[in-house]
Order: sequence, then C-alpha cells, then structure tokens
Amino acid sequence: MKRILITGAAGFLGSHLCDRFIKEGYYVIAMDNLITGNIENLSHLMPLANFEFFHHDVSNYVHVSGELDYILHFASPASPIDYLKIPIQTLKVSSLGTHRLLGLAKAKGAKILVASTSEVYGDPLVHPQTEDYWGNVNPIGPRGVYDEAKRFQEAITMAYHTYHGVRTSIVRIFNTYGPRMRLNDGRVLPAFIGQALRGEDLTVFGDGSQTRSFCYVDDLIEGIYRLLMSDISEPVNIGNPNEITISQFAEEIIKLTNTTQKVIYKPLPVDDPMQRQPDITRAKTLLRWEPKVDRAEGLRITYEYFKSLPETELYKKEH
Ligand code: NAD
Ligand code: UDP
Repeated sequence: MKRILITGAAGFLGSHLCDRFIKEGYYVIAMDNLITGNIENLSHLMPLANFEFFHHDVSNYVHVSGELDYILHFASPASPIDYLKIPIQTLKVSSLGTHRLLGLAKAKGAKILVASTSEVYGDPLVHPQTEDYWGNVNPIGPRGVYDEAKRFQEAITMAYHTYHGVRTSIVRIFNTYGPRMRLNDGRVLPAFIGQALRGEDLTVFGDGSQTRSFCYVDDLIEGIYRLLMSDISEPVNIGNPNEITISQFAEEIIKLTNTTQKVIYKPLPVDDPMQRQPDITRAKTLLRWEPKVDRAEGLRITYEYFKSLPETELYKKEH
C-alpha cells in the first residue's frame, strides 16, 4: 500500500485530498494544527484502518515513522482574513514548514507536491496569467505575508529539486470553491452565500469590476492528482478560466439563493488584485487536464452543502 502524508488535511482542500487518496487505496497520514481547519472535515475517515491523524504544527520539526511515497504540503491559512490575522504563522508555514517537508521528502525518497497560488502573480500585469509571468507583488503590503511566503516556497522547492534531486511539483491554485469551505472564512463565495442565508445584503468590495475565475473543488483535486503522478517540476496553473466580475458573481448568488437582498458596496481591501484568470495551456498539454464542472452546477452543489449546515454555523464568528 502506497503511503502519503497530507499537511493541512483538516482544511477545505486537504480534506478533499484525503478522500481522494483513500479512494485510490492509499495509506493516508493526515497532519494539521487546526489553526484554520475543522477536524469535522475528517470525522468520516477517522475509523478507517488506512487513515491516521496527527495534530501538529508543520513549521516545527516533522517526524513520520515508516516509509513515505508522497507528500502533499497544503498547510497554510488561505483566506485573506485568516492570513491577515495570523501573518507570522502564515509566513512560517510556507517557508519553515516547506523546508521541513522538503527535508522529509529527501530523507524518505518521497515525491513532494506543494500548494502554491495564483497570488504569486500579485495584481497581474499580464492577462490571463501564464506560468512564465513573474508577477506583480507588493512584498510589504498586507497580502505580502502570504504571497511572498508562497514565492519563497516555490524557490526552495525548485532548489531542492535542482540541488538535491528531490522529485517535486508545484501547483499554482486559482480560486477554488465547494463543500467544506468555512462559511465565515471571508472568501467571497461563502461570504455571499452566508449573507443571503442570514437575510443580509451582499457586500461587494470596491466597484465590483475586479475579476476572479472560480474552479470547482473536484476539478482541482483531479488536476492535483495528475500533477502528483507526473514528473513535471515546473509550476502548473490549475484553475477554471471562466472569468467573472465580482458584481456579476453577486448577481449569480442572488439568483441562486432566491434572496430579496441587494448588493451594497464596501471599500476595496489594500492590494486586492483587479483581475485573475489562469492560462491552463500547460495543464491541458502536459496533464491532459481541464475543468469539467461549470459554475452553475458547482454553485448549486455548494449551496446545498451550506444549506445543510446547522443554523448555528451561520452565526459563528471567524477564528
Ligand atoms: P484551509 O484554511 O481550509 O486549510 C488549510 C489547513 O492548513 C487548515 O486545516 C489549517 O489548520 C492547516 N494549517 C495551517 N497552518 C498549519 C501549520 N503550521 N501546521 C499544520 N497545519 C496548518 O485552506 P484551503 O483553502 O484548504 O487551502 C489549502 C492550501 O491550498 C493552502 O496552502 C493554500 O495556500 C492553497 N490554496 C488554496 C486556494 C483556494 O482557493 N482554496 C487557492 C490557492 C492556494
Ligand atoms: N469580496 C467581496 N465581498 C466579500 C468578500 C470578498 O467583494 O464579502 C471580493 C474581494 O475583494 C476580491 C474577490 O471578492 O476582489 C475575491 O475575494 P476572496 O477573498 O474570495 O479571494 P482572493 O481575493 O484571495 O482572490
């Protein structure tokens, strides 16, 4: 049985990755310090003989006994309100944490894939974003703690590949959504759906002309799986190129939820990127991957999930 370590396992993406690798017949070692994650995301896996969970901060020394075939490093706060609240931990987990996990991969002879982000492109001056664009990031702005940590993560991952011959992959993930997002994590989709369910107006930041391109979680997981199985060490964008303005997105959520609430406008956060759309030519060519779930379908599934949560979740404050 192949053995895989998944960090950030109790989070949104980490828990879906655990499900996927359990389904593929792996022994899954899940690790998380629960700083933004929810152990409930893993409760259905806990009884399984090929699943174990370790409560651990991966910015500290990481010990795993036995052999390891693969490592997926997904631990990191990912939502702007999270990484603004815990900036130092955010810097540490993608720098010190990545260093630990690369060291572990080297010691075990494991292949490692690290979760990077479209944020490495910052507020991009090239559109859509191809992997060879170097980005436009403000290193000392509020988002710098996340963006620069992820840029360092990419640099140290390439260095371990080049100088130590570790088998590595880097996925640049664009905005992803689906069940198990936290209603109160501040990201735009749970924010809008939470507001609609509570009967509040939807808060669009800025004039709403900024764009994002939203990918359904199942599509992303498939792309990550294919990348892990490949020998591609260059970064690969995984996302859905279907771009939409945040105003249009708010209108879609109003229709989806059938709410009578309206849109209200709030100031745009500092350094909020104006446009974002992945160029997925590399993923299409090298991984034969492209997204399959359209936004209407993905939003419907995600809305059903949020509606199924106990009402208390709607009024929970963020961490
Ligand atoms: P999430 O907050 O739901 O999950 C992150 C998990 O990492 C949480 O369970 C958290 O408790 C854990 N964690 C954080 N710091 C840790 C540490 N020091 N030690 C151990 N565990 C720690 O976020 P997510 O959306 O699932 O994002 C997962 C990864 O994907 C992150 O690395 C993020 O940067 C990346 N990513 C996500 C998106 C997206 O749209 N969701 C986009 C780009 C990149
Ligand atoms: N946004 C918004 N209202 C909200 C939350 C977010 O208009 O209640 C905007 C935010 O300013 C950004 C976009 O939606 O332009 C996506 O924000 P999110 O935090 O989901 O992701 P990121 O900015 O990291 O892409």
